[in-house]
Amino acid sequence: MAEEEEEEIRAPLLTGESDASSWDPEALDPSPPGAAAAAATALPETLNNELGIESLDYDPVFSVVHAKTTTIKQNRRLYGYTGATLAKWSITICIGVLVGLIAYVIESSQEFLVTEKKSFAQKTVEGSLILSFLGFAGFSVLLILISSCLVLFWAPPAAGGGVTLVMAYLNGNDIPDFFKLSTLITKIIGTICSISSGLLVGQEAPMVHIGAAIASAMTWMHGSLPSDKDASTKSSRSCWNAKATNFDFYNDKDRREFISAGAAAGLAAAFGAPIGGVLYSLEEASSFWSKKVMWRSLLCCTCATMVLASINEWQFSMALPGSMAFRQLKPGFRIRDLPLFAVTSVFAGVLGAFVNIVHDRVDRLRPAATRKFSRLLEVCGITVISVAVMYLLPLALGSCLQVPEGPLPDGKMDEKYWLRYKCSKGEYNDLATLLFSLPRKSMQQLYNMQGVKHQFPTADLAIHTGSVLFLFIIAYGTATPGGIFMPSMLAGASFGACMGTIFQAIFPGENIQPGLHAIVGSTAMLGGVFRASISLVVIMVEGTGGIDFILPIIVAIVVSNWVAHHIYHAGAYEADLERLGGVYFMHSEPPHQLAALTASDIMSPNVICFHEVVPVREVLEVLRNTRHNGFPVLRHPSVDNSGAGEKFVGLVLRHQLLLLLEEGLFSEVDSSRQQHRFSLYEKPIPKQMLILEHSMRAYHHYHHPHRRFLSSRPQEVARIEAELATKRNLAEADMAPDKKTKKVVALDLRPFMNRAPLTVRRECSAQRVYVIFRTLGLRHLCVTDSHNRVIGIITRKDIAMAQKQGFQKKSLQHW
Ligand code: ATP
Ligand code: MG
Repeated sequence: MAEEEEEEIRAPLLTGESDASSWDPEALDPSPPGAAAAAATALPETLNNELGIESLDYDPVFSVVHAKTTTIKQNRRLYGYTGATLAKWSITICIGVLVGLIAYVIESSQEFLVTEKKSFAQKTVEGSLILSFLGFAGFSVLLILISSCLVLFWAPPAAGGGVTLVMAYLNGNDIPDFFKLSTLITKIIGTICSISSGLLVGQEAPMVHIGAAIASAMTWMHGSLPSDKDASTKSSRSCWNAKATNFDFYNDKDRREFISAGAAAGLAAAFGAPIGGVLYSLEEASSFWSKKVMWRSLLCCTCATMVLASINEWQFSMALPGSMAFRQLKPGFRIRDLPLFAVTSVFAGVLGAFVNIVHDRVDRLRPAATRKFSRLLEVCGITVISVAVMYLLPLALGSCLQVPEGPLPDGKMDEKYWLRYKCSKGEYNDLATLLFSLPRKSMQQLYNMQGVKHQFPTADLAIHTGSVLFLFIIAYGTATPGGIFMPSMLAGASFGACMGTIFQAIFPGENIQPGLHAIVGSTAMLGGVFRASISLVVIMVEGTGGIDFILPIIVAIVVSNWVAHHIYHAGAYEADLERLGGVYFMHSEPPHQLAALTASDIMSPNVICFHEVVPVREVLEVLRNTRHNGFPVLRHPSVDNSGAGEKFVGLVLRHQLLLLLEEGLFSEVDSSRQQHRFSLYEKPIPKQMLILEHSMRAYHHYHHPHRRFLSSRPQEVARIEAELATKRNLAEADMAPDKKTKKVVALDLRPFMNRAPLTVRRECSAQRVYVIFRTLGLRHLCVTDSHNRVIGIITRKDIAMAQKQGFQKKSLQHW
């Protein structure tokens, strides 16, 4: 008899598999039996990886407890104001200020190091070239070793630019350790070292990551979590009141908004372009956007740029907002010059697409991420090659020219810019100057090229373009922080200036300005490599302070995007996202591969569900044996006597179950199910539960900040099982139903489960499923039949699979 009851309690464990008396989803499902198993084994390697990338929970859990806490919060309002908004604005300002300060630190330290290295090269090159090269290369390798060792042995997610992963995160993929403090520190130090080492990488993409990581850290610091002690020792009410005055923004939804603003501020600080930063976050980085996020991003970007401008004013008594802004007489243009700009843009667009293609090929040749010493050797080798090119190219091909008179384009007299190298006094070596200086300064020079007598001859500009392209393609993808925004702009500027000088030779009477072609070349190169539109226009205009050139810049963006699109299908970020294993990026438009499919074609059948009141033993068994993060909750037919079977009533998340077990929120219930209805569902809800609701939203912060995927690892369940046995005296044997009293230890999921999870009917089109998933940022979507019974579940992985496998219309096979 007891065994029979035990069986009865075990029934909900694997609905559709173990309980013969209950309904069987496979029997209802028109797809062939075992389709789920087949799908699981057919999971593409990249998606079925062990990286531990999981989805974020943007969808709020509408539970009874959540409703109750919301009511309490609303009652506590002072004239309708809770103070949460003020807290959010304050955090935003702090993020902006911090990003501005860090941008200054990165900028000034690399400027210092690069200038010192440049003067070292000048001093020593006149003596022994070999010794000078060895000294220079040795210091560069030392710098890159610091940066690369930090990345390889301490914080691997800090490698590369980071924009792609910020995009993936803001799209709903949780990247382990991506915003950890060690990653942030590595990114800051690594960026300074790698740029100063001579490796041709830029700081703009790392700044986006840094901004996002600072934003993440700020939400973490403002998170306040009630502890177990608070709930048990103090009187419940006073404890609740004390905690409710604090704001907890450490949940996926709030964090997403701050991270969007932080990423925007990062880019704004890198270019001195506040509006460009906002638009970049809107167009590229963020997947979810609203008016509030727009306002917050603008504030954050303005703070970051203002901090930089104030430091500049204090240091140089001028506050130029754009980091590439130039003050000298601006070259003018006429509308009839536009066709020539279009020609420059076409070629620069082709070069941009070429960069994408070559990068794709080169990336496959790089050593795997796990081979750390090969990666270290690779990055050191590439640094030596870069330094060799810097040293030898000017010697072999550079021209010695007269140092121009007058101030630099940014208004300052800076003789240090012109590098004499091996030329005689009063002269400079053009290639050495371009290669040894900071890209930003060289770009200012190129943008300012006017008239027919210029500082850089055509052939040398062509050589410089080629060498920059070569150097940044080999550097892009090594195990060190650094992006390709600035190198692309430099290559484009050099190429554009080269084109300008060629046009000057072809049309001598036309007053062509190579500087303008350099701006157009930079913009078009960025368009070709990244395929962005309006944000690049604004970044270029704000960065150069050149609102007068907005028309050529727009022409450059449109033409280059169009040309590049016909050569290579994806921009740098999209191509990187395609290559990333474990990440599925959901674009805003549904993929055409889903057009003919329905929800039942893409769902996973054989869903593991729980009943509303579920024995602890079953919960542990499911958690131990699966890594799913969401489980539909069904009403037991004995509770609802309508005869319609097990109705779908909610969804419970894995971390909720773990927390309920950890907090010991279970009690003994009669194992006869009729009794479940009111056994645990007390009213009013205990205060402990209300406090618990806070913790539930921030479970990952509670236990594993930045490593949420651990919660779906068997070790986490084992830890909780051990805790149950030691702290709560609940060993495996105690969980079985008591033979005499017929009682069993069970969890009541009703107060905590999401009572309003989204569902779709099986006939719903897969493209519509995609749109619902993408717009609401869902993690689970249950598929129901006409009786509101769960027949399947859809997660991000299922949609990715359907898109990869293309047209496989299972539902038609049954017609
Ligand atoms: P997450 O980021 O939440 O881990 P995921 O797509 O990796 O998302 P998993 O739970 O790891 O989700 O699911 C892997 C596969 O299992 C998917 O095909 C999904 O449809 C399926 N699945 C998810 N939850 C359940 C469940 N409760 N019962 C049965 N299958 C499920
Ligand atoms: Mg998973």
